[in-house]
Amino acid sequence: MPANWQRGVLKAMGVKNHPVEVVDVADLAPWYRRIRLSAPGFLDELAVHPTIWIRLWVPALEKDKVVQRGYTVVDPDPDPGAGEFSLDFVLHEPTGPAASWAKNAEVGTTAEIAHTPQKLALDPELQTLVLAGDATALPAIVTLLRAAPSTASKYVVIQDSHDDRDALGIPQDARTTLAWSDDDPSGAGLVNALQASVPLDGFDPGRAYLWAAGERKLVKAVREHARGQLDLGRHRQHAQNYWIAGHSAG
Ligand SMILES: Cc1cc2nc3c(=O)[nH]c(=O)nc-3n(C[C@H](O)[C@H](O)[C@H](O)COP(=O)(O)OP(=O)(O)OC[C@H]3O[C@@H](n4cnc5c(N)ncnc54)[C@H](O)[C@@H]3O)c2cc1C
Repeated sequence: MPANWQRGVLKAMGVKNHPVEVVDVADLAPWYRRIRLSAPGFLDELAVHPTIWIRLWVPALEKDKVVQRGYTVVDPDPDPGAGEFSLDFVLHEPTGPAASWAKNAEVGTTAEIAHTPQKLALDPELQTLVLAGDATALPAIVTLLRAAPSTASKYVVIQDSHDDRDALGIPQDARTTLAWSDDDPSGAGLVNALQASVPLDGFDPGRAYLWAAGERKLVKAVREHARGQLDLGRHRQHAQNYWIAGHSAG
């Protein structure tokens, strides 16, 4: 792969790049693609936990170089030796190197991936789990729903206005409430949907956790809501920018 200064820095930090090959491509919706990858050995070194993500190295759109993008690990094979897992891609427009790589991917397409340092464990005593964001956050939200204690109430609010958004298959049990909010780049629409969805009666900030990710303005609005109306302390929330409208990730 062509050089990139970030690759040099990451290599100096001991981050190894692994080759990866596409073994299956499935469209959950015309704008949302699941790609199954094989990277023998990669999962052996991975402590799988909710929201885990990797760096994906793909060719830049125009220049002869590679760029890295974050993507969430989906359905890792429980047999680590198998080395298979999936990544879910929002095929957004305007496109970027990662969305374009995913759009053109077919069985046999290759790239490189690298581990990222991280750790997230949910409190087993959790009473309320609040999950919010846009479609880029969905893969991570699904990992959190699967990891949540069975007794916790889970509130999921996603901003997306595609007609076929229900096809994305969000797992729901009797304790899960799912709500959608239509596109509002300010984040106010997502916060309004959260206010309508999460009951404050009996809400205990000491036994709740909020996780949010997606476009920067949405994340900022949700973070303010978490600190303000939900009164969640620093260790009771995690809100992470996944992308910035109008800016390529570099
Ligand atoms: C920890 C982490 C985990 C992530 N997990 C996932 C995941 O599982 N699935 C996933 O799809 N994304 C995920 N993302 C977000 C993804 O990395 C970004 O959307 C990334 O910018 C896409 O790269 P690109 O090369 O396609 O576009 P870029 O070159 O970064 O951007 C090109 C243009 O597209 C716009 N853009 C970027 N993303 C979107 C979008 N989603 N919708 C509309 N416009 C967009 C930019 O604002 C820019 O104008 C994750 C990000 C992080 C940090």
